[in-house]
Amino acid sequence: MRWFVAAGAAAALGLAGGGLAYASLWPTSQFFGRTLIAGRDPDELALTFDDGPNDAATPPLLDVLARHQVRATFFMMGSFARQRPEIVRRVAGEGHLIGNHTMDHPKLAFEPAQRVRQELADCSAVLEDLTGNSVRFFRPPFGSRRPTVLQLARELGLVPVTWNVTCNDWEPIGSDGILRRLQAGVTRNRMNGRGSNILLHDGGHRAMGTRRIDTVHAVDRLLTAASRESRWVTVDAWHSG
Ligand SMILES: [Zn+2]
Repeated sequence: MRWFVAAGAAAALGLAGGGLAYASLWPTSQFFGRTLIAGRDPDELALTFDDGPNDAATPPLLDVLARHQVRATFFMMGSFARQRPEIVRRVAGEGHLIGNHTMDHPKLAFEPAQRVRQELADCSAVLEDLTGNSVRFFRPPFGSRRPTVLQLARELGLVPVTWNVTCNDWEPIGSDGILRRLQAGVTRNRMNGRGSNILLHDGGHRAMGTRRIDTVHAVDRLLTAASRESRWVTVDAWHSG
């Protein structure tokens, strides 16, 4: 039983040190409270796009999704939504799901409760004003969260959503690199009997106009190559209640 004790001690040490950062930033960690990730049907996949709307990528992405007749989930920043209301309305009008990604993209785990509440409430208000639909889902910027953040989100009627496929599309890896990570992540989830909640970016949180065309091309290639069994859902498909 020696190894077991040692492993337990290592785990305790890990949690006291880097483990807390791990628990609050790692997208599939449930340590700080439950977040919505994906369903149990491996054929169900959700494309989720953060940090838009962005005129450099969102309109061509919408063209790609329309061509493949796929609906996706867009976690938008309120500040960008305010700057590009016509794109927000187009996303909603084409049947995609719009979620809250805060006004200005702070690391919420390090912000006081008042700022967290403001960031969430203001973003929902902007999006609801533009689309007429109530906002029910929220993705924390950088996946950063702690119990208070999740609690505040729930008080505002928002379901926190993370992801289980990361494609690093914020790095200069081209559509080949994005597609490779995408397919590896989906294959891993399929082997584990899980659906895939795929994190991608149609915007960049630092500035409007961030180049994301490689992401658009990777999505086009993914949808062209996807098996017929794949069912593309929006994240509300995995939420009951
Ligand atoms: Zn983001």
